[in-house]
Amino acid sequence: MLEADPLDLLGATQTELSLHVDGCTRCRTAAQRMLEVERELRDALGAATPRRSVNDAVRVARRRAWRRSWLWRASPLAAAAVLAIVWLGRRAPLQQPASPPIRPAGGSGVAVAAPPGKSVAVFRTDNPDIVVIWFF
Ligand SMILES: [Zn+2]
Repeated sequence: MLEADPLDLLGATQTELSLHVDGCTRCRTAAQRMLEVERELRDALGAATPRRSVNDAVRVARRRAWRRSWLWRASPLAAAAVLAIVWLGRRAPLQQPASPPIRPAGGSGVAVAAPPGKSVAVFRTDNPDIVVIWFF
C-alpha cells in the first residue's frame, strides 16, 4: 500500500488492490489515512517556499565572493601601509620621554612613553589581553 498509486488507494481503479480496498473496511481506513498524510505533506512542502529566488541567491553569492576577493587584493596594500607607518615611526631615534609613561586604566600592566614631540594614545579593547597603542 505504501508504494501503491493513490488512485488504487482510493479504490477508483480496477486493480486487485483497488478492488480489495473498496471492499475491506480495515484496508480502506488505512488507505484513507495514508492519502490524508500524503496530502498534508504536499501542502506543507508547497507552503515552504525559499526566502530567495534562485537568481537572487546567485546574485548575493557573487556579491559576497567579489567582496572577499577585493579584501584579499587590498590586504597586501594595507599591510604595506602599516609597515610603512611603523618604519617611518622608527626612523627617528627614540630619546628619553618628555612626559612620564601613560598607564592605561584597567591595570593592563602596559606602560607607554611617547617620543619627544610625539603623542601616544592607548586604547583598551574588550579583550583584556589586547591593548592598542597608537603613536602619532
Ligand atoms: Zn484488507
